[in-house]
Formats: sequence, C-alpha cells, structure tokens
Amino acid sequence: MKVRAVFSKLDLHSHTTASDGILTPRQLVAVALERKLRVLAITDHESTEGLAEALEASAGTPLEVWPGVEISTDVPGDEVHILGYLMDYPDEAFQTMLRLLRESRMSRAQRMVAKLAELGMALAWERVQEIAGAGSIGRPHVAQALVERGYVFDVAEAFRRYIGRNGPAYVERFRLAPEEAVRLIVAAKGLAVLAHPVMVGDGAQRSLDLDKMLPGLCAAGLAGMEIYYPGYASDIRARLSHLIKRWDLVGTGGSDYHGRGTLIVGLGDIAVPERVIDLVRERHQRQARMTESEKKRTA
Ligand code: AMP
Ligand code: FE
Ligand code: FE
Ligand code: ZN
Repeated sequence: MKVRAVFSKLDLHSHTTASDGILTPRQLVAVALERKLRVLAITDHESTEGLAEALEASAGTPLEVWPGVEISTDVPGDEVHILGYLMDYPDEAFQTMLRLLRESRMSRAQRMVAKLAELGMALAWERVQEIAGAGSIGRPHVAQALVERGYVFDVAEAFRRYIGRNGPAYVERFRLAPEEAVRLIVAAKGLAVLAHPVMVGDGAQRSLDLDKMLPGLCAAGLAGMEIYYPGYASDIRARLSHLIKRWDLVGTGGSDYHGRGTLIVGLGDIAVPERVIDLVRERHQRQARMTESEKKRTA
C-alpha cells in the first residue's frame, strides 16, 4: 500500500511532456485524480500546449485544471522563473512570445549538442529531438541523451559536470527580463507569481535577492510568490511569509512535479493550504477589476 505523508488538495506547479515532464497531460490528470486533488495547475516551461488535452481529460471529473505556464527569465548571474495562472492563454500576443521563446530553446539545444561534441561527447541531434518529443526542448532532454550514451551516470551528473549554468557545455538563449515576463502574463489577463525564490537543491541553499527584486516585480504587476515548495523548511517559509505580507502578495506553491530528475516529489505531496485556491481566485478577480477601472479612467 502506498502511504502518503501529506494530503494536499491542490498543486499549482507541475510539468508534462509539453515541456520536460515525463507524463502526458492525460496521465498527469489521472495521477491528480487518483490523489484526489481539487485543483491542478499545469505550468510547462514556455508552453501551454499541454492544456487542451488536460482540460479534456479532466472534464466531468472533480478535478479543476488551471491554465498555467512557467517562464525562465534572466538576471545577471542567476535565473528567475515566473509562473502564470489563469491567463487567457490563446491570446495571440501571448502565444507569439511563447513560440519565440521555444524557438530560442531549440537553437540553444543544438548549440549545446555541438559543444558537447567538441568535448568528445557526440550525441545524435535526432535522438535529442526524439526525447523532447513535441514539447519545449530543454536541458533535461540533452541530459537524458548523455545518460543513454553512457557519458554520465544520471541527469544530475550531466547538470553538475556539463550543462549546469557554469558548465563547459552551457549555452545561453534569448530570455525575457523578469519584469517583462510579469507584464506578458498580466497582459494576457493572468496572475504572475515568482517561482521557487529559494533554491535548495545540491546541498547548498541560494536565495534570489528579494529585497532588490520585489519592488520592480511588484511594480510590473507581480501578484504572488511560491512559499510552499519541496525542501522549504519552516525558517524559509517564515522569511517568505513575512515578505508576501509586506508586498501584498498571495503565497502559492506546488510540487514542481516533473516525474524524474532531482525533484522527486510526488504530485500533491507539498502541503499547500486549501484556502490558497480561493486566495488565488480572489486575487485574479481583483486584478481584472483593477484593469477594468484603469481602462475606464484612461478612456
Ligand atoms: P532549461 O529550461 O532547458 O534551462 O532546463 C532547466 C530545467 O532542468 C529545470 O526546469 C529542471 O526541470 C531541470 N533541472 C535543472 N537543474 C537540474 C539538476 N541539477 N538536475 C536535474 N534536473 C535539473
Ligand atoms: Fe523543468
Ligand atoms: Fe522552475
Ligand atoms: Zn517548474
């Protein structure tokens, strides 16, 4: 019998085969139903391509699927991930930008494969593409190809030795600035949320410089920040809770479920209080009202 330590009713951070998750949207919905979630937000990297299938699979079930997205942005020396929720995701400008970001992932993956070849680790580009499938191509797919060829023991080693941010085969790509990603999501009528502000992997703990970043992000329209996330102990939670009060943000969270890699936390296995469902909905409505009155004022 499977024993679960935590029973969460919601999970607002998950990935499917539309980016670097291993489950198809339909399979992910099946797991969410099995785990009796009420709300599942699908937040694929730079893609909403998994949503149609997930919405179809969840129709008529007790599970509500929320449209989501995760956008990787750039600041000097670090990466900042911005989540979007409840956007009007078919919005044309929104989709055009997501497509552009996915294209930059493609050419960057090709350049990483070329660098790896120079380092003596030849990979078949076709195989890397095959692993990525139709989804947003990313470093986990390159890592898996390296594992398959026996160049590294596992995905973690691939990141540690070669394709991590400071690795010899790392390649940059076109990214938005964090504020631009926030504005992109808000323009598509979505809520923008700062993802995993503290990085707890690899033994060392790093935090974004939140005192420096939050004023600009909030001015751009940031609505929330993840405070429930794998590995966040009570001291981290306390510091982040203090910040969300100070900046009037909604505290959200989820498992960041990919179904593999180093983030091996089960879907829904992060205790996110059930009231967060309503807090996010209310915040979304408040943002819509504010946009509406802004329009009237400037009309
Ligand atoms: P990319 O979006 O192509 O830059 O790749 C980043 C993704 O790789 C993250 O979203 C994680 O899913 C995954 N990732 C990052 N660091 C690691 C790591 N050390 N081990 C395994 N997966 C990782
Ligand atoms: Fe990922
Ligand atoms: Fe992320
Ligand atoms: Zn994620």
